[in-house]
Order: sequence, then C-alpha cells, then structure tokens
Amino acid sequence: MGKVYLTGAGPGDIELLTVKALRLVREADVIIYDRLANPDILKEAKSGCEFVYVGKKDSHHTLPQEEINEVIYQNALKYDSVVRLKGGDPFVFGRGGEEGIYLKDRGIKFEFIPGITSAIAVPEYAGIPVTHRGVTVSFRVVTGHESKDKNHSQIPWENYKTDDTIIFLMGLHRLKTITKKLIEIGKSADYPVAVISRGTTKDEKTVVGTLESIGSLAKGLPTPALIIVGEVVKLREQLNWFEES
Ligand code: SAH
Repeated sequence: MGKVYLTGAGPGDIELLTVKALRLVREADVIIYDRLANPDILKEAKSGCEFVYVGKKDSHHTLPQEEINEVIYQNALKYDSVVRLKGGDPFVFGRGGEEGIYLKDRGIKFEFIPGITSAIAVPEYAGIPVTHRGVTVSFRVVTGHESKDKNHSQIPWENYKTDDTIIFLMGLHRLKTITKKLIEIGKSADYPVAVISRGTTKDEKTVVGTLESIGSLAKGLPTPALIIVGEVVKLREQLNWFEES
C-alpha cells in the first residue's frame, strides 16, 4: 500500500510551486491532477510516471468528487507514491479534506502539502494587497458558487457590511448577483472591485471598476478568475507590477 500526497500546485506560475511539492512530483509513481494545476508541472515527473486527469470527464462535467476519491484510493493500492495535485492550496475550496477522510477510512496513509493559494497570490500579482495598514485589518475568502435554490443563500450576506477585503472564488458567473447583493446590504455603488483572470500566468488580465460598473466591464473575461472587493483595490494604481513587466 502506498502513500498519498495531497499537494497544492500553486496558482498558475510554475515557480510558485513549493520545493517540497516539486520533490514529491519528481519522486511520484502516479500523479492525479485537475484542471487548475499548471500542466507544465508534469514535465518534472520521472520517466514512467503515470498521469491521471480528473478535471473533466467530457467537455461539460467535472468528475464527481466520490469518483475522484475512489481513483486516488485505487492508485494508492497500486503504487508506492501517489501525488494528488490540486490548484492553489488543497484546503482552500480544494476538497482536500474530503479526500483525506476517504483515505483515512480505508487505512491509506497521506500527507498534506500546502500550496500558495490563488486567493492571496492572484491579487498580489495584480498589485492588490489583501490587507494594508490603515486601509483594512482583515480579509475573507468566500465561495461565489451557491446552490441553485434562489430563495436560500448559503452566503451570510449580512456579515459583509464591514470594510473587510472580500475575495470571491468561483464567482465570475455570478458577478452581477454578487455586486447587487453587496449594494443591497449597504455598500456604495462606487465601492472598488477588481476581477482578475488567469492570475500569475502570462494571460493574466485585471479589470478594475466599482460595484455598479464591474458587471459590464468584466464581461467575457476568461476563467479561472476571482473577484476582489474593497478599498485595497485602489492600491493597484501604485503597486501594479506583473502586468506591466
Ligand atoms: N484551491 C484553490 C481554489 C480552488 S476554487 C486555491 O487555493 O487557489 C477555484 C477558484 O479559484 C476559481 O474559480 C477561481 O476563482 C480561483 N482561481 C484559481 N486559480 C486562479 C487564477 N490563476 N486566477 C484567478 N483565479 C483563480
């Protein structure tokens, strides 16, 4: 029976992979990876390493989590060193915990390898600090994805009245709903927002606007993308570096 390394791949830029993750990728007998992990990382694997893609079954559907768990488990029965490579960090909307529990229940040993999360690194490449002295003292990372039931929101919108920086992952397709909600709870229509698409890669693109304007400004931006809301967005005027270099 092998060991599974539930490994963060970082946000996109291959050099944001940790030294530990790189070592494990080089030693792996099999790498199970998904859509958000930079595929160039696989070039680091030893010859003979198996690759298993679990991002999408076909052009529409993501492989259900239950099936991914089982794929990891089956590979752990077959190989000594199994790397489960996930975009960003395994615990930030990465379902790493679920995979760990599935393995634990079946007696498989595992380790978590933290990764640099897109929630912080992507704004950083866009020149937007998630906290800044004198501007904001905290930040929140929230899923923009919600259950289909329109009358029942999982997001406690009333909690977002403060000036905390808010970072929405998986929210681009609901950008207009999100900005509308934030205005409804009392934020001003000219409150700063940015949408950052394909952050930390050569295709990175950032659009800056307000709660009122961002919906139209960010139209058509490709995924993956995140939304960042807060006064810190204005600091990009001075701190933008990556897209200018
Ligand atoms: N575990 C990951 C997040 C998984 S949720 C992490 O820690 O980064 C997937 C969401 O992350 C996407 O919908 C998008 O909102 C965000 N994301 C991931 N990579 C990104 C990138 N390179 N640029 C912009 N957003 C990204």
